[in-house]
Amino acid sequence: MKIKTYLDNEAINKEIELTGRVDVVCNLCRSNEAEIVARENGFNICRCLRCGLVYVNPQPTPQELDNYYRRYYPEINEKTIVQWYQKKSFNQVINILKEYHPNGGDLLDVGCGLGLFLEEIRRTQDHWSLAGLDLDKRAISYATRRHKNIQFIHGNILDISLIQDGSYDVITLLACLEHLHDPMRVLERAYQILRPGGTVIVRVPYITPWLYIKKYIPFLPVRFQAPMHLFDFSPRVLEKCLNKSGYENIRILIAAPDMYPNVLITAMIKIIKSVSILINIISRGKYILPLSGGLVGIGQKKEDHEYPEAQTE
Ligand SMILES: [Zn+2]
Repeated sequence: MKIKTYLDNEAINKEIELTGRVDVVCNLCRSNEAEIVARENGFNICRCLRCGLVYVNPQPTPQELDNYYRRYYPEINEKTIVQWYQKKSFNQVINILKEYHPNGGDLLDVGCGLGLFLEEIRRTQDHWSLAGLDLDKRAISYATRRHKNIQFIHGNILDISLIQDGSYDVITLLACLEHLHDPMRVLERAYQILRPGGTVIVRVPYITPWLYIKKYIPFLPVRFQAPMHLFDFSPRVLEKCLNKSGYENIRILIAAPDMYPNVLITAMIKIIKSVSILINIISRGKYILPLSGGLVGIGQKKEDHEYPEAQTE
């Protein structure tokens, strides 16, 4: 079967072939009890009845996804870069870095693509030692040529021989977890890679409430983006994911609005985001409007984390 998917970024709109299917259980709580909330591109979008995680089931096989993300960037040129450059999202995360690690440190951006977020950090703050990791070899070689003084690594974060445990102060996963077959394992691996007291920052979509509305207003320009996006996170679910992976001092924020090729959609998103941010401020961060569209989650590794290896040696 040939599936045509459209991503929000024009530069990577393309037809892809993902023919394999694998049945999955909930990635967060391992339950297999779920309700179907929507269908898109022939895929079921399900919501776990036990924990609320929203996921695509069945999914393309992990091997197919891996191959796909190894060739994610079809063309790399100045136009692609403009489209991938998400200034507001980048700035939001940079402000979090300033707040949590004012003196900088070692930062790893997982799923760094062309390295644009790292470039933005380098442009605005000079006290970070920066590294980026991506599956796409072409993106990594491009990034290596473009950005001096940033280390780029080709590979998978789950490959334990690639990155040493306890070697980074910050790990960022921006618009990354929702694409992966096993986001919980990735969060757990990120926890191992962090130093004690280190911080993970994730940005994920929160689009499911819009899918419920779309049932009644079918022309709404809202998409889950299955099968590129395999997961969707509510604030409560994202908090549980971070908590279960070991993080503490968890905070969930509304993600800054991204730019979309369609001016009308961008305007609509900006208006709704402004309302939800206002409500969030008034409620002192307690309430996140279900139409917020995207979330940023922050978690910290325990200061007194002990490594089992260190205890036995
Ligand atoms: Zn679940």
